[in-house]
Amino acid sequence: LSALEGITAVLVDMDGVLYRGDRPVRGAARAVNKLREMRKKLVFITNNSTASRSAYVRKLKRMGISAKKSEIVTSAYATALHLKKSSPKPCVYVVGERGLKRELREAGLRVVSSIQAEKATHVIAGLDRKLNYMKISAALRALLRGAEFVATNVDATYPTERGLSPGAGATVGALVGCCGRQPRTVVGKPSTPMIKIAMGSVGAKPGKTAIVGDGLDTDIAVGKRLGLRTILVLSGVSAEEDVEAAKGTELAPDFVYRDLKEAVFT
Ligand SMILES: [Mg+2]
Repeated sequence: LSALEGITAVLVDMDGVLYRGDRPVRGAARAVNKLREMRKKLVFITNNSTASRSAYVRKLKRMGISAKKSEIVTSAYATALHLKKSSPKPCVYVVGERGLKRELREAGLRVVSSIQAEKATHVIAGLDRKLNYMKISAALRALLRGAEFVATNVDATYPTERGLSPGAGATVGALVGCCGRQPRTVVGKPSTPMIKIAMGSVGAKPGKTAIVGDGLDTDIAVGKRLGLRTILVLSGVSAEEDVEAAKGTELAPDFVYRDLKEAVFT
């Protein structure tokens, strides 16, 4: 059985599958072209909330991969859609970067500055490479007044060219440390909201959808949770030893390949 037999929609995790930092993974562009030839519906996904979908379109283009904005679902975009759907008039204070604020504004949400943080109905925590005490204080003020705590994702780290860097988990941890509660909602993997939004965007059905990712405890975990076919590639964070350790557990992927090219052309 080929990994993609009977599959009509493929959710492709980007970081560690298509690229590592700014370096493309070899053969990834060819594999995506092949998936298009095979007429699979594609959604490119990432937990990274720092860049807008348009920025990802450009990033993929630099790597020889053409994708439409509508085919990209980030935790920032998913957070915006999730809030719009679940709350009548959300007003948000964001501890995160420009791309996250941009997606929230583009979805029509009100984003307030730290001076107006008390007005926020929601505090959104995402990866913030300029995290500081002032932002944490503003978020705390909002949380103490009852604002709902939402995390784009809780990744402890993410891979960069220089090794691991602190992820959104660092922001979430700073807020948990002072407000004493956990996020009410986590949007990104291994939680389900972002993946459900990605599937909804192409009308994907669980039994006919595959998720390709490099993370056992993110991509594979959420795929299992939602009944998707799970394909692990070893071009990113998870290694062969991790696959060995996961054997017989609920995290064991349905298929394991060296990279996306091997997954598509085998
Ligand atoms: Mg990844």
